[in-house]
Amino acid sequence: MFKAVVIDKQEQGQSVSLTEVDESQLPEGDVTVAVEYSTINYKDGLAITGKSPVVRKFPMVGGIDFAGTVEASSHPDWKAGDRVVLNGWGVGETHWGGLSQKARVKGDWLVPLPAAFSAKQAMCIGTAGYTAMLCVLALEKHGLKPEDGEILVTGAGGGVGGVAISVLSKLGYSVVASSGRTEEADYLKALGASSIIPRDELSKAGKPLAKERWAGAVDSVGSYTLANVCAGIQMHGAVAACGLAQGMDFPSTVAPFILRGITLYGIDSVMAPRAQRVEAWERLGRDFAIGEREGMFQEIGLGDVIGVGEDIIAGKVRGRVVVDVNR
Ligand code: NDP
Repeated sequence: MFKAVVIDKQEQGQSVSLTEVDESQLPEGDVTVAVEYSTINYKDGLAITGKSPVVRKFPMVGGIDFAGTVEASSHPDWKAGDRVVLNGWGVGETHWGGLSQKARVKGDWLVPLPAAFSAKQAMCIGTAGYTAMLCVLALEKHGLKPEDGEILVTGAGGGVGGVAISVLSKLGYSVVASSGRTEEADYLKALGASSIIPRDELSKAGKPLAKERWAGAVDSVGSYTLANVCAGIQMHGAVAACGLAQGMDFPSTVAPFILRGITLYGIDSVMAPRAQRVEAWERLGRDFAIGEREGMFQEIGLGDVIGVGEDIIAGKVRGRVVVDVNR
């Protein structure tokens, strides 16, 4: 038996509970992992609260990511004792996930735990941090350099935002953080933001084109915010868009694209090819100074997951929440 956070369908809505599960119920897969740490990402909050239809098979063990040690494997790449990380691939949505002491998955979904991190540190970063790195890689591949101008990060107080600020500032970019929590200014500056703008400067309907302010941006918010971000990007700049914390809509015009030649990169962490994942994790090992980012993380046990899932959707979580599944 092992403990897991199980989401199940009810006549009205859904139930979420910390449950003892028999190992014989684990889903199909060629690798069994003793999970050590998981996390609470925004998507986990959506699944736990049932606010969006993230879970598409019931009963479902929640958790879109985990880090741990291979217990048994019939996959050629993995053997017992290997240290691994998993992000996405529908885990916690259509396949039992990481908010659990045990997981059984396809070996093709796993990447090696980077030598730079412990299992706990990898999950402090989690899917949010790995996605932040995918965003940074997209801006780099676009050719943006620190001397091109400032980079805007929206949803700065959250998980994607915090890792993006930290990595970009370590790489020498000047970072502007947009946040609804101005009381967190000291925290955002400690992460590496050089200035902070209030969230509502960007969250309402704006003009198709605004003053050219930023060379690039990482947006985890969507909706009017993303439209205003695009409107304020400098000629030939770029935006990496990964999130929908404000909304899934994108009420923009073609003006920034056809008059300023800006590029909007869509970032998907769930089905990202393996080579991209390995690159992102390697770069996190190099460019995310996790030892200096204590203030970004809080640790909880499996029993605390339901409450924190509600908090992240209410925008009350700062930085990242790591889950010790054995606590
Ligand atoms: P968090 O909840 O940690 O961060 C989101 C932040 O967005 C909040 O901290 C808050 O920052 C801001 N925010 C919240 N509500 C609103 C609102 N109504 N209007 C404007 N800003 C708001 O979530 P994560 O960092 O884990 O994820 C961020 C987004 O990225 C989510 O939408 C998530 O689904 C998405 N995501 C997408 C992935 C992909 O593969 N494409 C992978 C991972 C995440 P502040 O208080 O500073 O304003």
